Amino acid sequence: MIDSVLPTYNRAPFSFVKGEGAWLIEADGRRFLDLGAGIAVNALGHANPVLTAALTEQAGRLWHTSNLYQIPQQQALADKLVDATFADTVFFTNSGTESCELAVKMARKYWHEKGDPARTEIITFSGSFHGRSSAGIAAAGSEKMTRGFGPLLPGFVHVPFGDHEAIAPSITHHTAAILIEPIQGEGGIIPVPDQCLKGLRDMCDENGILLILDEVQCGVGRTGKLFAHEWAGIEPDIMMVAKGIGGGFPLGCVLATEEAASGMSAGTHGSTYGGNPLGCAVGNAVMDVVNTPEFLSDVNRKAGSLRQKLEGLIASHPDIFDSVRGQGLMIGLKCKATNTDVVQAGYDQHVLTVPAADNTIRLLPPLTITDEEIGEAVDRLDKAAASLAA
Ligand SMILES: *Cc1c(COP(=O)(O)O)cnc(C)c1O
Repeated sequence: MIDSVLPTYNRAPFSFVKGEGAWLIEADGRRFLDLGAGIAVNALGHANPVLTAALTEQAGRLWHTSNLYQIPQQQALADKLVDATFADTVFFTNSGTESCELAVKMARKYWHEKGDPARTEIITFSGSFHGRSSAGIAAAGSEKMTRGFGPLLPGFVHVPFGDHEAIAPSITHHTAAILIEPIQGEGGIIPVPDQCLKGLRDMCDENGILLILDEVQCGVGRTGKLFAHEWAGIEPDIMMVAKGIGGGFPLGCVLATEEAASGMSAGTHGSTYGGNPLGCAVGNAVMDVVNTPEFLSDVNRKAGSLRQKLEGLIASHPDIFDSVRGQGLMIGLKCKATNTDVVQAGYDQHVLTVPAADNTIRLLPPLTITDEEIGEAVDRLDKAAASLAA
């Protein structure tokens, strides 16, 4: 008989009942060091007192009014994001998938309003992940996600990741935009090199098309900059955000330049919950903590120390691990052993990691993880690797 919860997930047999910073506590009292952070969501750790205060203070006053009315918390968060980034304007969503939906709609509407409605195609890359809606799966285009869900939303042109030569010939008078994750997350923590992001920006400028970045996983301080594209010194026209921005509360947004957003006039898009007072109260608190030079430089310092320890781990277990990649606290350990076995061995040592494609495990700890916890995490991964080798 089918489970009362639709059986679309393969869940590990843990039922966490409490969180404390980088720790998750099982119903039976066992403590797990969480290097997954709810898949790069709990950027400030579990039960962060600043976020709890922001949420409960707002919860006691007002939860929801809808976008029929002004929402001051939403206005404040939009102002913060505009001040901190390339963007001139922000739309709030409840998830990364919804951010993808709007990014696609915005790019198409831009060309429609420019009088070039044939420009509907969006170039995307193999191994990418943009969410599970019809647009999201069509954008990524993988057999695994799209099989049986056709007919797919048309208008996506898929190019092999890393094949610079393949991009230019794919740009035609039907092209609206290029959509890419600066660091592929689900794909196995695969960074787009800075010079390639610069090359994509140039290509978009030369052809007058839009550059859309999906920073749902790599954004909000995860890489040691507020947004990952800052490392390459470029700016997108449209950017998808979610995960870390809500620190665990479902919140996402789309950032855009005034030009890219020019088609989105009143009535062209909306969301009942998007930008609700609860989500935005938390989002404001997350931004106030993350978007300071001190916080981001601390992320970079800790990332350096974790990276160095992981190089040592790989050297100690050359049969288990192949290499480490990523940026900041968005780290992929490419495995030689089967990645899901490594994750399982970690569970046995009470350390949580997240598998990804390309036989990789992901380390996406809370950005607030301490130096001591970083040491503890690598010790536990070391024990996990040793148990696999035995
Ligand atoms: C998680 C993710 C999404 C989808 O976000 P949801 O909140 O699960 O809808 C989209 N793009 C990237 C890069 C992601 O990592």
